[in-house]
Amino acid sequence: MNLFKRAKVWIVFYIKRNIRRLLHSGIILENKFYRNTLYKKALKKISDLEKKNRGNLFYPLALEIELTNLCNLNCVFCPNSIHDRKRGVMKLDTFKRIIREAKSFKMPYLIISGFGEAFLDKGIKEKLEYLSQNKPDFVELVTNGYALTKDIICFIINKKVIDKIDISIDAADEEVYKKIHGKEGLEDIVKNILFLQSMKRKQKLAIPLVSIRFKDFSLNNGRFKHFLHRFNPIADDIYTYANIFHWPGFKNNFTPVDKNHIIKLPCIDLWRGIRINWNGDIVLCCMDYEGKIVLGNILEKQLINIWNGPTIGFYRKKHKELKFNSLEICRDCDINTNFITPW
Ligand code: SF4
Repeated sequence: MNLFKRAKVWIVFYIKRNIRRLLHSGIILENKFYRNTLYKKALKKISDLEKKNRGNLFYPLALEIELTNLCNLNCVFCPNSIHDRKRGVMKLDTFKRIIREAKSFKMPYLIISGFGEAFLDKGIKEKLEYLSQNKPDFVELVTNGYALTKDIICFIINKKVIDKIDISIDAADEEVYKKIHGKEGLEDIVKNILFLQSMKRKQKLAIPLVSIRFKDFSLNNGRFKHFLHRFNPIADDIYTYANIFHWPGFKNNFTPVDKNHIIKLPCIDLWRGIRINWNGDIVLCCMDYEGKIVLGNILEKQLINIWNGPTIGFYRKKHKELKFNSLEICRDCDINTNFITPW
């Protein structure tokens, strides 16, 4: 990333942060025009998505797969350590079935993410091998970077199966890293990133794009300048965001969200993307870390029928009517608010 891009990231970061603060002041929130504009915008997006129906069926634009809910870190903002779901790893057959179905309706975008570290899945190579033969337009993978061994890096590079790797780092030094992620390891992760970038250069490849994430919150407050200085030279992209959420049922002291200063909006995710847990359960969305609202299981029913089933239909209807408080999980969620999409 050159100096110009670095300056741009820096400027955008501060503009976004200040506009967000302004929009969350009481005066702005009470403004009817602002509220109505947000509602109209959200409903328009939904109506545009609904027009993309094929026949009577509605098709998702994105698929999020959790390969495992095992994790090797203990990040302060993540409910992984407290969730009660059984721990496990997705079976190869389940993965293949999902990819086959996704291919049948030309799913454009797939993200490997969820509540665990994907590279702890010992069968990940077989899954990526299968994915490389049935690849959607764009494949993204979220990782903490710990288990990115040389072996797996070479495999990914050779298969050209991942378009983008997101690495959550959030800190410029070990001290802050440990406070946020629960243990040291930043320097090893940096070595892994350097190796990945050197392999790409050797093979003259542009992918996987390496995006390094910085969540802006109290534990790294004031450290963005250091972060940018350190990671600008080795990242293809720096992604900053302020989404330290109140996960429904998992309260943390780090979110800047004031429950009294938000506007709840219809949630586009209900129309856009499917989320599948390691055991094949399709759950409401990425905020349902306990897997409470199960729409169906991929091993029992076709993905597209689950995505057009009664449970999600009920949630969509209630969201369009702005009746969030009657909905388990959604009522406590910060995602469908102007905190995340303030304009
Ligand atoms: S509002 Fe939150 S909990 Fe409800 S569907 Fe959207 S992301 Fe999920």
